[in-house]
Amino acid sequence: MDPGAQDQSPPRGRNSVADVWGTRTPYAGEGRWPVRVDQELAGDPERWVQSACVLCSNGCGLDIAVSEGRMVGVRGRAADHVNRGRLGPKGLEGWRANASADRLRVPLIRAGGKLRAATWDEALDLIVARSKELIHDHTSSSIGFYTSGQLMLEEYYTLAVIGRAGIGTPHMDGNTRLCTATAAASLKESFGCDGQPSSYADLDTADCLLLVGHNLAETATVLWMKVLDRRRGPRPPALIVIDVRETATAREADLHLVPRPGTNVAVLNGLLNLVIEGGGVDQRFVAAHTVGFDRLARTVAHYPPERVAEIAGIPPDRLRAAAGLLVRSQRLMSTVLQGVYQSMQATAAAVQVNNLQLIRGMIGKPGCGVLQMNGQPTAQNARECGADGDLPGFRNWSNPDHVKQLADLWDVTLDQIPHWAPPTHALQIFDYAEQGSIKLLWIQATNPAVSLPDLARVRAILAKPELFVVAQDIFPTETTALADVVLPAAAWGEKTGTFTNADRTVHLAQQAVAPPGEARSDLDIFLDYARRMDFRDRSGRPLIKWHDPETAFAAWQACSRGRPCDYSGLSYAKLAGGSGIRWPCTDAEPDGAARLYSDGRFPTAYAYCEDYGHDLVTGAVVEPLQYKAIDPQGKARLKDAEYQAPHEQPDETYPFWLTTGRVVYHFHTRTKTGRAPALQAAAPDVFVEINADDAQSRGLAEGDWARIASRRGEIEARVKIGGIAPGCLFIPFHYGSWDQPDRKRAANELTLYAWDPVSKQPQFKYAAVALARIAAPATTRPDAAAGMAARIVEGVRHAAGAAAALVKPERQHIREYLGLLHGSEQGFAAALDMVADAHASEPDVLNLCRVLAGWSRRELADLAQLIARYGEAHEAEPERIAKALKPKRRQTGFGLVRDLHDCWLLAQESHVSLVVLDQAAKALRDAEMMRLIERMVDQNQRQRSWLFTRIKQAAPQALIVPA
Ligand code: SF4
Repeated sequence: MDPGAQDQSPPRGRNSVADVWGTRTPYAGEGRWPVRVDQELAGDPERWVQSACVLCSNGCGLDIAVSEGRMVGVRGRAADHVNRGRLGPKGLEGWRANASADRLRVPLIRAGGKLRAATWDEALDLIVARSKELIHDHTSSSIGFYTSGQLMLEEYYTLAVIGRAGIGTPHMDGNTRLCTATAAASLKESFGCDGQPSSYADLDTADCLLLVGHNLAETATVLWMKVLDRRRGPRPPALIVIDVRETATAREADLHLVPRPGTNVAVLNGLLNLVIEGGGVDQRFVAAHTVGFDRLARTVAHYPPERVAEIAGIPPDRLRAAAGLLVRSQRLMSTVLQGVYQSMQATAAAVQVNNLQLIRGMIGKPGCGVLQMNGQPTAQNARECGADGDLPGFRNWSNPDHVKQLADLWDVTLDQIPHWAPPTHALQIFDYAEQGSIKLLWIQATNPAVSLPDLARVRAILAKPELFVVAQDIFPTETTALADVVLPAAAWGEKTGTFTNADRTVHLAQQAVAPPGEARSDLDIFLDYARRMDFRDRSGRPLIKWHDPETAFAAWQACSRGRPCDYSGLSYAKLAGGSGIRWPCTDAEPDGAARLYSDGRFPTAYAYCEDYGHDLVTGAVVEPLQYKAIDPQGKARLKDAEYQAPHEQPDETYPFWLTTGRVVYHFHTRTKTGRAPALQAAAPDVFVEINADDAQSRGLAEGDWARIASRRGEIEARVKIGGIAPGCLFIPFHYGSWDQPDRKRAANELTLYAWDPVSKQPQFKYAAVALARIAAPATTRPDAAAGMAARIVEGVRHAAGAAAALVKPERQHIREYLGLLHGSEQGFAAALDMVADAHASEPDVLNLCRVLAGWSRRELADLAQLIARYGEAHEAEPERIAKALKPKRRQTGFGLVRDLHDCWLLAQESHVSLVVLDQAAKALRDAEMMRLIERMVDQNQRQRSWLFTRIKQAAPQALIVPA
């Protein structure tokens, strides 16, 4: 027994399926949550092994009971500050899935349309051969990775180094994009960097809780136990819930605001407006520690309660009541989850919650702050380690100094690490695979064939014969059924590593039992791949210099040192035995930090921040120079956003709003929880939840079958009459086809393939759908998993063929852009000559237009070298440019303005081509091309600057006093 495990024998487990949250242990005060040890045993343990639960982002500490080399149970760790011994139904029951008979045990390779057993050598050599061939023929940008929110820190970091510095691909993201991308994005926008400002410790003393789109009771059951214990104890906090559904969370609330789907920004702007009007602003804090208040106040002033009622349907008096609670609170804490992250204007809305905490001056103080929660259990590590598109250590991809830190750490060239454009997000990766430019997609521990939106499209992409799909998982899934190679992975409990929960608590999870068959840990698989690829650093040494979890952890510590997520003070030894420990954990802060920003300083400085931010409405990035000019230098950023209506709304054909989400007993696509008998029995099938009035008006009763259809697909589900706003339907997204292949029931058959402009998180929380009663499902024969692969593949081949037919044949697009640039530069030089002639009486125009035309001609000569290498293609460009070129107007002041204006447009045409070619040059790592383009960009900038200056000078006289 390890020293942190409790020595008293806890009682036999409660029935957590029937009694989800267990008995209350009321309390108040930081660190005073009483211990209550929950346990589930199916045998007598020989030993207990320290671990933590990976079935949601709460990260409860638990011990695994082991007997005769098998898991026989779990119990909560009393010493752990996250749960103080408690476990929810998934934590207590989920471990049983590990022993399911259908675990993947050997690698599989597709041959003759079928997956057959293979050796590890065969499988990995095939992947390596394909990787090398693609990199040689199509560059590293032909390879993409779609990873998980369920791996361990050591695995993410190794994957990130392989992807960024080994292969050098910009295409790496995880399913964290579906659940937690907006949390990261909103923290970067407001505070300059990812990282949870608060922790669960703040729930111990808060006096008001605002839960926005967060069904805490079902998504993080143990955290909800904490809230319930505060609510039943002395000085209970007020509870405000904003949610479309009447969830268990909402039923507990003092005030439940029910907005229309997609209207969070309007509601939050309305609350901010009322808080400002009601005198709730901490003026001293705002002046000393934030920028942007005046603009925020101006924007939210357009959202009085009556307008919010019009947009969102929330009665004005209820909005005022909520604002009153927010203004009166002394220790306000807000939490945010998928009702915001997966809805319209996700980042903009999440940022407004940050704004609320900031203008109240309630951040960095006990009992105050915001929890931008995570969905996937180890999403935090994917973000920190850079396996989700970000750079490791919360580094800024548009800050060359940050990229150089990594290049030095890994001993590779700066250009090897893709940083010339925003990282490719998940849906974009699938788009590129659909278009054929990503040709190898390696998927780990996730199931996009059920979890991504618009599944018909996603299945067609995965089934494309031209796309080489590698799927690495612990069970056969709807995705492995479409793969070319399947790699069997070790599950939680079968490998050692660390992971970090939503409040920055790092846990050590020790290997308790051996993986089945030939399954290997994801870390082992990555290390083997790196070895076979023979990735080397600049000095000729192996790129990956670690060989097991603990040495991988040490490598990550070096990467994180000095960054906000600093792990340098942690070690496996320190994490063993007691509670998990929060980062930052350093020599100066050896016990970890309960909350960030206690000194009112935020990581927003130009040189240190992780991101320069975005326009919250359009998603346009703030350029480095723009940011430098307004460097907040440690102040938080209050960023405003106007409300935008959802892209798809109910109409006559599709009269209902659809929203999707989770049920308390399942996780993700049920790959694990669907194989835990008690959890599966508790929630065996999909349902559609409908308001009682809507059900009555459509003649529907509880348990009836219904067909639900959107513009993208349809499913069949039983009706459940429940607490949801009129006109709305709720469908849980967990259910795919692996255990019921003959009925379409995945909610994502219906959802939109659309994403938030800033966080790129898919918008699952609104879509227009129709619902009709049916006598019975079209097919009712539930089938075994066997044979599923062949059926799914057959089903999608036709669609894949159709999709492939739409994709144009591959073309050398660099040639085309060289042709475009050549044409626009030629046209620009000719136009400048014409303007010089037409306005020869203006000496500066005459002389400078000649000089500028000469510059462009010289560049044309250099461009010829590139054209000689890549070729040149013209596609109707001369006509297009000739059409745009209309100088030679009258020799008047107005004529000069118009002529210079036309010249500027032509220069701009060259500029866009240069930007496009510059990106390509960087991705090709073509140093000569990069140098030439860089010089042309500089010259083009000077040409445009002169034209712009001269236009502005000539405009007032020309427009005010016509000649
Ligand atoms: S709350 Fe989450 S982490 Fe804790 S036991 Fe339940 S599923 Fe596991």
